[in-house]
Amino acid sequence: MRQAVSAGWVIPVDGPPIADAFVAWEDGRIVEVGPGRAERHYDDALILPGLVNAHSHLEYAVYAGFGDGLAFGGWLTDHIARKRRLEGDDMVAIARLGAAESLASGITTTADYSFSGAAATAANDLGLRAIVYLEVFGGDAAEAERRFDGLRSQVDETELVRIGISPHAPYTCSVDVYRYCLSLGIPVGTHLAESDGENEWLEHGTGPLAAARDVLVPPSGRRAVGTLTDVLGPELLCAHCVTVEEHEIAELAAADVPVAHCPRSNALLGCGVAPLTALRAAGIRVGLGTDSPASTPSFDAFDELRAALAAARARERRSDALDAAGALRLATLDAARALGLEADIGSLSPGKRADLTVVSVAGSAYDPVEDPSVAAVYGGTPSGVLETIVDGKTRYHQGETAWQEVRSTASAARRRMLA
Ligand SMILES: [Zn+2]
Repeated sequence: MRQAVSAGWVIPVDGPPIADAFVAWEDGRIVEVGPGRAERHYDDALILPGLVNAHSHLEYAVYAGFGDGLAFGGWLTDHIARKRRLEGDDMVAIARLGAAESLASGITTTADYSFSGAAATAANDLGLRAIVYLEVFGGDAAEAERRFDGLRSQVDETELVRIGISPHAPYTCSVDVYRYCLSLGIPVGTHLAESDGENEWLEHGTGPLAAARDVLVPPSGRRAVGTLTDVLGPELLCAHCVTVEEHEIAELAAADVPVAHCPRSNALLGCGVAPLTALRAAGIRVGLGTDSPASTPSFDAFDELRAALAAARARERRSDALDAAGALRLATLDAARALGLEADIGSLSPGKRADLTVVSVAGSAYDPVEDPSVAAVYGGTPSGVLETIVDGKTRYHQGETAWQEVRSTASAARRRMLA
């Protein structure tokens, strides 16, 4: 059955914005985009491709403020200790809130690194498209395999939710574990070069991460990127890449490694500002990621877009380092490319899946709209998101009350972690 929605502007991302336009789909796939009005029409609103979050942890949706201001090593230790107070049901409840907040923020796809597998259950339940990378740790590949098999047997792969694997980071996993993960032929994602402390531990066995040494692998004698040289490739999604030098950026580019850029997380944890401009100039596929409320402190993709703009311009000391349309691309088509999903999602064009979000900027400083990308990026907020559609189905509608229960169950889990 054909369905359509229209608004004051449609921003397809892979083409110029269209005024007073509609998006139509059939059986979950976009069939037409162009000027005109549909029966379902939103006046002072913009239709965007569903936002693609290149890095999240839905299972940390209620971790806001934990260890605020601590050094990275102390923050990580606190994070691990609190997580140990949760049961499996708590993790699902929290992840459901994470999925709900993602949809309410216009996110239709998320690349989620999952400790317990609860993120896969939550994404399936709420209809959020996802790649869920099940996390493994340690130096022993056989042990990583046992952990992965255990998690994998508890989650379902569906049309909407693909299962991948995440060797956590080069300071918590051996290169053997990375090799095992990459041998599976499923999506693989890791954290890489997030902090100076990571390089310090890996090169010298010293620094702030040493406080968590019982969960770390031994130093490699090389920096983070150098530690992974033998396993870098187009299949290994790398979150962060903040503390990378020029020759390391060249190495990542030569290996066609996709990168998830998380400016709020990196800034708030005191890790730094990733060299977004240099990464992109080197030809690296970069997508924007919110990371999780454990650091950011929200799945608010609009806040992330503005942080990306501020960080890029501040770092380069140039106002043209990144523009609003470029930022929006980072959170849609570029993120889809980083995940290898650009044939299906990331822009509004016929043939792609009907993943879209409708955002009102009515009453914002950008109303009436002059430049729709500027309005979406600077004026967009989760409270302005009117509707989020995944695979042609409405998965969020403003004013929904069913989610109050999702929030209260997750809050109860947070209370247990604080005890
Ligand atoms: Zn992360």
